[in-house]
Amino acid sequence: MNTSETPYLTTCPISCTAPLADTTLRLREGLLRRCSACGQLLSSASAARYSETMAQFDDSTFNITAGRAQKRRDAVAHRRLMRIAALLDKSPQDIRLCDVGCSRGQFVAAAIAAGFSAEGVEPAPQIAQAARDAGLPVRTGLLEDQQYADSSFDALTLFEVVEHLRAPLPLLAECRRVLKPGGILLISTGNAASWTTGAMGTRWDYFDMARDGGHISFFNLRSMALLAARAGFEVAGIDTARVKFHDRENTPRWRYAAGKLLAEALNLPARLAGRGHDMLAWLRKPAQ
Ligand SMILES: [Zn+2]
Repeated sequence: MNTSETPYLTTCPISCTAPLADTTLRLREGLLRRCSACGQLLSSASAARYSETMAQFDDSTFNITAGRAQKRRDAVAHRRLMRIAALLDKSPQDIRLCDVGCSRGQFVAAAIAAGFSAEGVEPAPQIAQAARDAGLPVRTGLLEDQQYADSSFDALTLFEVVEHLRAPLPLLAECRRVLKPGGILLISTGNAASWTTGAMGTRWDYFDMARDGGHISFFNLRSMALLAARAGFEVAGIDTARVKFHDRENTPRWRYAAGKLLAEALNLPARLAGRGHDMLAWLRKPAQ
């Protein structure tokens, strides 16, 4: 094996010391491996493949939504913001929030519209500039680059960030530092122990680096709880939602429609069983 084929991930991203075991799930980048302690799934992608697929994020036209998709996204953002306010037991006007990895700043805009004092940080320079061009307070770079003072924020959000990271613990440590005691960190990522993953296996689009650039690390409820504990957070709740069996593009229409009906019937049971493919982890920095 030459260096260009060496996997970018060689140990569990949650810092388990247990060995990695091969799975039977073969992606284009090679077999997914599983941490034998926490069950985290790891891509075998090389560093070169990782960088190549991450480049999609720095295109100023990336992630533009409009019409119904934008309305849906705004509704999701609003629900999340109201839950953050409820967990903090504060009104939006008293909450300073930062969306880390904020892309074009859609969540920052939704938070400002809801009365929060909100800003964002985004490492991809062109996307960060697009957010500023839209009038949003977005800084370029990593959270770690910004040198915020201790206890700067009531709430931080990390949407679809942790699945890109070889080592998420240093970022979570920085989140903990800049959060006030009792502050909320909301993390969204995929759930690799979902009924969707069970049914779709390697066809689950979340595993597809060509489609979702840089996805290398796949969580389950246990590995998320372990990440939270190792970073010094309390878990206020971990929710999962949504089930699907087919991708619209590669499926005959009748089969897609039938699968969608079944998936919709399973949405509530999946939520109750923690088996949906969208995961939301509500973490809290201890008050003391
Ligand atoms: Zn692990």
